[in-house]
Amino acid sequence: MNSRYEVLSYAINAATPMYSTAPKPVFTPYSQIIKKDTSNTFVISMHNHTGTHIDAPKHFVNDGKSISDYSIDELIFENPIIVDCPKNSAELITPDDFSYVLHQLQICDCLLLHTGYGKFRNEEKYRTHNPGIAPETILWIRKDYPNIRCIGIDSISISSFQHRNEGREAHKIAFTKSEGFGEPLLFIEDIKLDMISGESIEKIFIIPWQIDGIDSAPCNVIAIIKS
Ligand SMILES: [Zn+2]
Repeated sequence: MNSRYEVLSYAINAATPMYSTAPKPVFTPYSQIIKKDTSNTFVISMHNHTGTHIDAPKHFVNDGKSISDYSIDELIFENPIIVDCPKNSAELITPDDFSYVLHQLQICDCLLLHTGYGKFRNEEKYRTHNPGIAPETILWIRKDYPNIRCIGIDSISISSFQHRNEGREAHKIAFTKSEGFGEPLLFIEDIKLDMISGESIEKIFIIPWQIDGIDSAPCNVIAIIKS
């Protein structure tokens, strides 16, 4: 069977949309050949939730795992699926959105949620009216599908900016250790999914920036697609 690779991460630049008050990235030339330096280099100043990034439990649980605590085995997914759950501004994903894929959830390790909101990434509403995931959906997934280790969404955050309390609750439910729930979840936010909607994914690799001790980090996400 033939397969192809797709990069599901957006390139980071000065226009990258940021959630809430998080500052935009700044790239300052440090040495410049045009200024008679021997090389070109930059100093990068960046919030750790910039662009396509992965949230680890430490984001909401102080003694939770940092992203650098994950081994590569924990960041490779052999049974990913993409679920189409079209959402308009500020709508939340509920368990009903999964009724047609319930049988697939039982073997899935990485769930990619395609809301279609990525097409608004250049508009202000991508930051202010993004769809999110309802807390009861996260609770249901952790209870009934402990095999799911990671959830990705084509929205700036799993927290809808218009429903911030529910968003915080959803993060806490995802990241808190609980009896019978399996490992806390990982989230990939601001991921590019339009070009793989409806496809069958063979494998997902998540390669975060290797920075010790931080809660979350920008990441490259690479998918192998069956064709
Ligand atoms: Zn985040």
